[in-house]
Amino acid sequence: SNIPKIVIVGAGYGGILTAQQLQKELKHNEANVTLINRHDYHYITTHLHMPAAGTDTIEHSRIPIAQLIDEFKVDLVKGTVKEIIPGEKKIVLEDGSLSYDYLVIGLGGEPETFGIPGMDKFALTIRSINSVRLIREHIEYQLALYKNDGNPSRLNFVVGGAGFSGIEFIAELADRLPQLAKAYDIDFNRIQIINVEAAPTALPGFDPELVEYAMDVLKRKGVTFRIGIPIKECLQDGVIVGEDEKIEACTVVWTGGIRGNGLIEKAGFEVMRGRVKIDDFLRAPGHDDIFIIGDSSLMLNPEGRPYPPTAQIAMQQGVVCAKNLAATLRKKELHKFVFSNKGTVASLGKGEAVAVVGKRKIKGWVAAQLKKIVDLRYLFIIGGIPLVLRKGRFF
Ligand code: FAD
Ligand code: NAD
Repeated sequence: SNIPKIVIVGAGYGGILTAQQLQKELKHNEANVTLINRHDYHYITTHLHMPAAGTDTIEHSRIPIAQLIDEFKVDLVKGTVKEIIPGEKKIVLEDGSLSYDYLVIGLGGEPETFGIPGMDKFALTIRSINSVRLIREHIEYQLALYKNDGNPSRLNFVVGGAGFSGIEFIAELADRLPQLAKAYDIDFNRIQIINVEAAPTALPGFDPELVEYAMDVLKRKGVTFRIGIPIKECLQDGVIVGEDEKIEACTVVWTGGIRGNGLIEKAGFEVMRGRVKIDDFLRAPGHDDIFIIGDSSLMLNPEGRPYPPTAQIAMQQGVVCAKNLAATLRKKELHKFVFSNKGTVASLGKGEAVAVVGKRKIKGWVAAQLKKIVDLRYLFIIGGIPLVLRKGRFF
């Protein structure tokens, strides 16, 4: 048939929002839409610090994609993309390949290790359901091993990087480890939870007053900060920091930043840290048939600095991407993407958070409630009230 084929790769924030908006925009037979994702579930990346530490179940952080998509309008393909070949308008999967007329790349990011030796091999990362399963099991296993071999390094937990991911994860860890210590008959005072940050401050770029508040909350929960000290190497039993100091730890979780999905650079696009600098309409330069959104894309704010890769921007891009696909099919004018910043809320574990909304700074219990609302709002956007009731965390 000569119905145009739209293929979306990746069903994260960007991919799901694109697919859902296309369902609304497109008329019957205007295009065939296919959504390809490695798993048959969508995961809520912004929740993953909780199942990683074990403070929440994994089931709260994932949703079957079939519950989010109208299968009469969008074909779901469970598959792992191996290669993107723009010259042939082709996507190669592990088993077979697919051609497209229009492509949306929403494959997310991957951990940026900056080439730090050992980081790929020995550090754990918070990036998917499978990666957080590993962290959760690893933490408990270290305590079990400690009870058998008495190796004190098993009681040291290092988080590398104090960006939002590092801070949110270490907060959960600090909530979880006292419970685990009790369960494993270990004195919590013997456990060390260490956050190493290379920059002169935790949460670089965030409001200094809120950074101080966040650090105070976490210190009270037992976190030790090592600020202004870069990790130079990761080993099986610790990290080398600053000038050759070794911090012994059998658990290292790396939250030092992310880069674009490696498949994009391999496809021959020009990238910065794996990301493609897209045009105002979300397209790859020189490719009017390829849209790139979310963590794999790079966009500059009006001051010329890159927007941080967030779920918030990925979602907004998804909606505009779908509108621009419809406009392209109809040979209408495309919409310029304009980011609307709704604010930032970072969780600090149970009952604590910090937030900046417009010019307002919010902290403590109120900010923690705001975080819950933001999370519930996302469930509502993608799945309405039924999803809020199924997956929402109200307490
Ligand atoms: P993703 O959501 O990462 O989705 C990518 C999808 O592509 C996944 O479904 C994946 O399975 C799939 N995929 C990847 N490779 C392949 C392949 N080869 N083949 C097939 N499928 C593939 N942002 C906020 O705005 N607010 C927050 O509060 C917030 N909290 C966060 C907390 C944590 C712990 C972390 C790690 C991040 C947080 N972020 C937050 C950032 C946010 O999660 C990301 O910016 C967002 O997930 C990016 O969306 P995306 O659509 O680009 O990619
Ligand atoms: P990030 O890049 O924001 O932070 C990484 C941190 O690691 C930085 O502070 C950096 O200085 C530090 N670092 C880098 N190299 C280091 C080294 N060798 N040794 C020690 N520290 C080192 O990455 P992230 O925290 O994973 O966040 C990724 C994106 O997701 C960001 O855009 C962030 O805004 C977003 N996010 C948002 C939220 C939220 O809004 N609540 C939560 C998590 C993530």
